[in-house]
Amino acid sequence: MKMPCIQIPPSKPNIRQKDLDAVKEVLESGMIASGEQVRLFEDEMSAYVGLRGGIATSSGTSAIHLALNALGIGQGDEVIIPTYVCASVFSAVNYTGAKPVLADVELNGFNISPESIAHKISKRTRCILVPHMFGSPARIKEILEIAGESGIRIIEDCAQSIGSLIGGRKLGSFGDMAVCSFYATKVFTTGQGGMVLTGSHELLEKCRDLMKYDGRANYKVSYNYSLTDFQAALGRSQLKDLNEFIKRRREIAGIYDDVFYDLGVRPMRPKDSIYFRYISDTSDLDAYILKARKLGLFCGKPVFKPLHYYKEIQSSFGEDFKGFPNSDRAYGRLLFIPDYPAMSDEMVEYACGIIKTLWTA
Ligand SMILES: *Cc1c(COP(=O)(O)O)cnc(C)c1O
Repeated sequence: MKMPCIQIPPSKPNIRQKDLDAVKEVLESGMIASGEQVRLFEDEMSAYVGLRGGIATSSGTSAIHLALNALGIGQGDEVIIPTYVCASVFSAVNYTGAKPVLADVELNGFNISPESIAHKISKRTRCILVPHMFGSPARIKEILEIAGESGIRIIEDCAQSIGSLIGGRKLGSFGDMAVCSFYATKVFTTGQGGMVLTGSHELLEKCRDLMKYDGRANYKVSYNYSLTDFQAALGRSQLKDLNEFIKRRREIAGIYDDVFYDLGVRPMRPKDSIYFRYISDTSDLDAYILKARKLGLFCGKPVFKPLHYYKEIQSSFGEDFKGFPNSDRAYGRLLFIPDYPAMSDEMVEYACGIIKTLWTA
């Protein structure tokens, strides 16, 4: 078979000359660790989401760990997370010594299901971690209602959905705390990086204190999770483009939707999505992935593996691991099709051609 003339990777950061200039300026200044740029990035991110403040971290995973720690969560506590999520979320809960309790997702939007959460709440539940997956909001208001006056804290994981809104209000502003990731494949990037955001002055101070490892009279465990100033400069420059990035993601999704309508296939069109992932339902997932890749389009599974599929996780829990039918269905059927702002019109057109080939074969 002839090699395709275009190769479309699953994602690619959109780094422009102005981003390079911003990083270069900081590198040349000689002040490259965590400083002024990090503080400005924290201020600009929290202003963007509409919260009091932020603490930049080395990754989304460290941001989750820091947030859980600031909430005082540890041994003997339970934290509810969806099973249909990346393993880093599970790990971050484990760092604290708390027990991650898995919940199922919804078939509509594939976010953690409020009904499943209600089943998993116990006397030990201290926190519900709510990732807004693939760019579309989880039912955060219902989840807040379930938590009610119980004292159960809510952390929103906006790693895939920063910039999305519910009723004009930004995701990340609903829970007690929010976390972001700026990993290379995310909505915008600092290479590796993350942030904790919160409206609480007290929690902000707790996070800062947990990161401070020197200049203390009394020793306590601290976490060196800092972002560098040159990463923050990249983040600040990228944040200025975030709304444009989201617009382009939605534009590409609209083009794919039209292709599917023409094929007589109803596209998913998740509500309020910023299309971190363009998701499609397939009857023969592995065959679609293989065929698309052969043609030069790197489609894939939007979640590598649900947590309850890892035998190590099953054995350490001894729970009934058959209780996640929606996650099972999502894992078996969902395909993501590349949709990111670094895609040119030509690449999008090429991808549309491959979608037509795949869905008419
Ligand atoms: C990427 C991601 C994380 C982890 O972020 P890192 O920066 O890679 O550590 C956590 N949660 C979700 C939903 C993610 O997509």
